[in-house]
Amino acid sequence: TGAAPDGVSIRAVSKRYGTFTALDTVSLDVRKGEFLSILGPSGSGKSTLLGMLGGFVRPDSGSLWIDGRDVTRDAPHKRNIGIVFQNYALFPHLNVADNILFPLRARGVPKIFWPERLRAALDMVELSGFAHRRITELSGGQRQRVALARAMIFEPALILMDEPLSALDKQLRETMQIELKHLHARLAATIIYVTHDQREALTMSDRIAVMNKGRIVQLDTPIGLHDAPDNAFVAGFIGEAT
Ligand code: ADP
Ligand code: MG
Repeated sequence: TGAAPDGVSIRAVSKRYGTFTALDTVSLDVRKGEFLSILGPSGSGKSTLLGMLGGFVRPDSGSLWIDGRDVTRDAPHKRNIGIVFQNYALFPHLNVADNILFPLRARGVPKIFWPERLRAALDMVELSGFAHRRITELSGGQRQRVALARAMIFEPALILMDEPLSALDKQLRETMQIELKHLHARLAATIIYVTHDQREALTMSDRIAVMNKGRIVQLDTPIGLHDAPDNAFVAGFIGEAT
């Protein structure tokens, strides 16, 4: 089977934990530069799928391709993917700069390149002047931006985000949604964005993959999904509005 030339290609990946099937033969192609949301209720396999792309969860079968390259067996740091985890996973004992620079250190990028990259990353998330603050001194929104800057510091072509705004209050969540969209437009990076918030997926995405019980049950544009006659999408989420 040939590789998709560009973007992300998830091919028939499965994952079982004991007798429980977390992912059941999931396939999905994400175009380069696309903002694709993975939407689904808790336990539907969203984080497992993202972890598989990131290299933290090994598939039992199937393969993963990025820009035409089979990365199924590559270690996480070899995949050139920026990741924003569900709980940010920042190092609380390190300051903002050291958190953001961590991926450069881990990849052995020479120190001479760090200051300029740091400045650009801080500017991008509007945290200039915060380089030496401790993580514990930051608000939720500021922590979220640090996590974002860290995910982007090595200029990845693909960024994975696992419910990055779910811990924020409604007001800030809406502000960050707009910021993320602007950032996406500026970066021209591919973003795969996990959420269980239907409204968020509808407003932010080029396309939405709806997951349920380890499978992708619908894949369409926001308008296409909204207008779908057999709306498993809506039916599956009634009562889960946030
Ligand atoms: P989501 O992110 O959509 O809430 P997850 O991908 O985290 O769902 O989990 C999907 C299912 O797989 C859940 O039922 C979860 O309990 C199970 N699961 C995830 N990781 C593990 C694991 N390491 N061991 C056992 N079960 C797991
Ligand atoms: Mg999850």
